[in-house]
Amino acid sequence: MQDAGLDLTAPDLTASERERILAKSALFDPPGIALPDGRRDLVGLSREELAAEMAVIGEKPFRAKQLWHWIYHQGATEFSRMNSIAKPLQVKLAERFVIQRPEIATQQTSTDDTRKFLFRFRDGQEAETVYIPDRVEDRGAVCISSQVGCTLSCRFCHTGTQKLARNLGAAEIVGQFMAARDSYGEWPSPKGDTPRLLSTIVLMGMGEPLYNYANVAKAMRIVMDGEGIALSRRRITLSTSGVVPMMDRAGDELGVNLAVSLHAVRDDLRDELVPLNRKYPIKELLAACRRYPAASNARRITFEYVMLKGINDTEADARELVRLIAGMPAKVNLIPFNPWPGSAYETSTKPAIDKFARIVMDAGFASPVRDPRGQDILAACGQLRTESRREPRL
Ligand code: SAH
Ligand code: SF4
Repeated sequence: MQDAGLDLTAPDLTASERERILAKSALFDPPGIALPDGRRDLVGLSREELAAEMAVIGEKPFRAKQLWHWIYHQGATEFSRMNSIAKPLQVKLAERFVIQRPEIATQQTSTDDTRKFLFRFRDGQEAETVYIPDRVEDRGAVCISSQVGCTLSCRFCHTGTQKLARNLGAAEIVGQFMAARDSYGEWPSPKGDTPRLLSTIVLMGMGEPLYNYANVAKAMRIVMDGEGIALSRRRITLSTSGVVPMMDRAGDELGVNLAVSLHAVRDDLRDELVPLNRKYPIKELLAACRRYPAASNARRITFEYVMLKGINDTEADARELVRLIAGMPAKVNLIPFNPWPGSAYETSTKPAIDKFARIVMDAGFASPVRDPRGQDILAACGQLRTESRREPRL
């Protein structure tokens, strides 16, 4: 864009890089959808796949539409509840299929009403999901995991110390949201502008969603489908550490809101904090943000910036930050660092955070400081799965 010498549009290069990322990601795919008894889970299938399952058992395509409604609009988990389907077919379906939720290994509710779930999947792998209710209104965000562990190793992030075990499948990603909805009894899916308690999804749990793009995209398409859960793309935010080649695709295909974990304004520091920066440096990352198709003044890009004492929190850092993002429809989310046992950093002081926020705000960008929630149950980002791993397994 502004820089000669750096061809930011090089389509062939980007396309081949994208193929490489998708192929690598497929190596970490979850186990198949069949249970040991041979029944298949219908959750997480696309509409086309659901229709194909119906075709295999000799049923017409409209059955897939009916099932879709029962599974994603009504939240049914039993075929026997589906009173628009005749009994014999209910029985036939139950012999061959299941509608599953991930098992809740533990569930804790904070004194501030934040609720954390540890879900256990069929192969025993676990991931966390957090529901963060608004303090005032009856709405809230569900923070969803996309992988068990992470291939990246951001220095301040606890997930980064856990090797990637595997990607979560579409069923496991959408299943986190559905199980959280079960917990609040929010079925059937509220229609249109009807308020929702679980009103937004943030892909900010464990893992890098753009290194599991196929499953994340499939899950988000299910969640956004107007005849099911029907959550608007405007209510979904995908957070990435900066997988540049996949950002365009996510914007084009899903049109969800984008959050970018920036955390540093110079490449030398970002190389250290977010090692992926060595591959996709700040300049390329910001160029990808500038061309992100789903961004506008109404739907700004969120830059996440973890406040690390004495590392990235000076006034000069703040001024450089606003220079870098000048002209973008953006806001800056300042996240007080959340320490974990063995972490090498400290949280910035309150005056340092306030000063930083003021500079960003004076430059015309909203700069909310993330309100620490669920601290008594360790529900914060980067802390997920830490404590529960220490509990003895039953
Ligand atoms: N992998 C994605 C999304 C998951 S992390 C990403 O990196 O964006 C969600 C957010 O939590 C990121 O901005 C991440 O940098 C931040 N985070 C991770 N560990 C943290 C910690 N210990 N304290 C504060 N924020 C943290
Ligand atoms: Fe992975 Fe995000 Fe943690 Fe970095 S911050 S290690 S990308 S989960």
